[in-house]
Amino acid sequence: MPGGLLNERMITNEVCGTVATPAPREGHQPSPAVATVGTLRTFYIETFGCQMNVHDSEKVQGLLLARGMTPVEDFMHADLVLYNSCSIREKAAQKVFSRLGAFRKATRGTAKAIGVLGCVAQQEGERFFERAPQVSLVCGSASYSRLPQLLDQLEAGKPRVTGLGLDTVECFETEMTRRDNPFRAYLTIIEGCDQRCSFCVVPMTRGPQRSRPSHKILAEARRVVDQGYTEIQLLGQIINAWHDPSPARLSFADLLARVAELPGIRRVRFTTSHPRYFTSDIVQAIDANSNLCDQVHLPLQSGSTPVLARMLRGYTREEYLEKIHDLRKARRAISLSTDIIVGFCGETREDFEQTLSLIEEVEYDQIFSFKYSSRPNTRAEGSEDDIAEEEKGRRLTELQELQRQIQVRRNQALLGRSFEVLVEGYQARLGQAVGRSTTNRVINFPGSAGDMGRYLTVKVTSAGPNSLVGVRVG
Ligand code: SAM
Repeated sequence: MPGGLLNERMITNEVCGTVATPAPREGHQPSPAVATVGTLRTFYIETFGCQMNVHDSEKVQGLLLARGMTPVEDFMHADLVLYNSCSIREKAAQKVFSRLGAFRKATRGTAKAIGVLGCVAQQEGERFFERAPQVSLVCGSASYSRLPQLLDQLEAGKPRVTGLGLDTVECFETEMTRRDNPFRAYLTIIEGCDQRCSFCVVPMTRGPQRSRPSHKILAEARRVVDQGYTEIQLLGQIINAWHDPSPARLSFADLLARVAELPGIRRVRFTTSHPRYFTSDIVQAIDANSNLCDQVHLPLQSGSTPVLARMLRGYTREEYLEKIHDLRKARRAISLSTDIIVGFCGETREDFEQTLSLIEEVEYDQIFSFKYSSRPNTRAEGSEDDIAEEEKGRRLTELQELQRQIQVRRNQALLGRSFEVLVEGYQARLGQAVGRSTTNRVINFPGSAGDMGRYLTVKVTSAGPNSLVGVRVG
């Protein structure tokens, strides 16, 4: 029923166990800026950051629906406005504060309750109330299962509530998920992170690594297939560190194969893999299951071994390249993407050139590149952020230009070839449908609104650095 999925947001039952998170530190100080909220009937949610945040918001919405609340498209009509925040870089973290400011201006205080979720909420904790007195709820991702209780407390007249406990061993299991993406069902298999890369704030904002048992993951995968989804994307900060806490003791590669074997599944993706745990049985699973997508995102961060050591990544340049070599030996050509940080503490020109040379050697299909941004409570916070912003900017531009040339070259090599795409969008003004290949390439082609949700074969007729253009064949 992919076509039928188009205009509805999926509301699904995810029946799972309850979560026992530790009692949070509660904020009690009343504030003149926060009025008593009364009954919260409607909600609006805005999400910043990664796919895990997007999916967390889907699960949070499920909780709110189960509580009898109704979503609204316009925040002006919402009793409860939620911002799910990201703090991976300073700029991302600032976004939530500027949104709150803009929101306050637009509503002139008409919203009954404003809550901040996610990484900035966890990072700032109760300090959030000082920076943004209009906020009455602050809740980190490890405490989402407590949201219904926190909202009860707000309705009962408590001016400020917090969910900030981190020392949980449980995952966020919900009874309902409101799926926003009609074509791709996200499914979290592992939460938190124990890696402690020196630049990264995630372990402090998402808490310790917790793996969901395989039977719960497979049951959820079966349910989304029953709802009409043919593509599943498994999610986790370090997805391949997943280990099965159930007696089945599946490996990550086994789990991929078991999800791929479910009748009705046409595409399985997974992100984000850490090079340290990228074992050859994952490549073997991709070889053995044609519906495991030929696409792997393997964050490198830097091509220089000394920088990788200071980042505490747990691999050298040579070890990373061995993983790539394994991937290149796969039976299908696997599309590769990566994350790069430029201007990390002490990164010399030679270090940076090592990154450039690795990028030339590997020839990724896509790169997500960032200027290093010092984050609170990380190990690197104590090191001098000694590369000037202008120099970081220059390195970023140089890297992106190199990658642009690589992408043009790689995409041009696809001219004349045909790919199966899942059609995910349609631009009526241009009469163009937008599909995605198994390798995650975007292909535009003349189509119709009725194509959405269908699998079609498209032949590539022209290629740019970021997308392809084609015509339907067959
Ligand atoms: N968990 C994944 C891992 O460790 O490979 C990455 C998740 S993170 C949400 C996405 C990317 O943001 C990282 O791979 C890294 O390139 C970038 N990033 C993380 N912390 C950063 C920082 N302090 N400054 C700049 N970029 C950062």
